[in-house]
Amino acid sequence: MTIFQKIIDREIPADIVFEDDEVLAFRDVNPQAPTHILVIPKKPIVSVAEAGPADAALLGRLLLVAAEIARQQGLEEGGYRLVTNVGRDGGQSVFHLHVHLLGGRPMGWPPG
Ligand code: 5GP
Repeated sequence: MTIFQKIIDREIPADIVFEDDEVLAFRDVNPQAPTHILVIPKKPIVSVAEAGPADAALLGRLLLVAAEIARQQGLEEGGYRLVTNVGRDGGQSVFHLHVHLLGGRPMGWPPG
């Protein structure tokens, strides 16, 4: 079981900023920007690489929820970054699909 499943199940605490039947969003415990929020499906999909056609609407919702949270957090004017890491070279460390919402400072490109 991943640490994010434990957050979904309320076995460990998290600073939750959004929740509905399908999606949970909470603040990253090790923030890399003034605002760093993780948006995850409650369904235990490992990454976008493991998602299938039946998950298309759910994946779309992750982005729409992230955009709505960004709006609520006042990030829309300055902009923000959405990232989902996949596998070893992608830098994924928690194997439950998540979209990072990062904002509140300028982002460099390319990422290191
Ligand atoms: P990844 O490296 O898989 O793309 O991102 C995983 C993220 O989960 C990291 O940014 C890390 O700081 C965050 N994280 C890991 N464990 C916890 C935890 O227990 N609680 C919260 N809120 N975030 C966590």
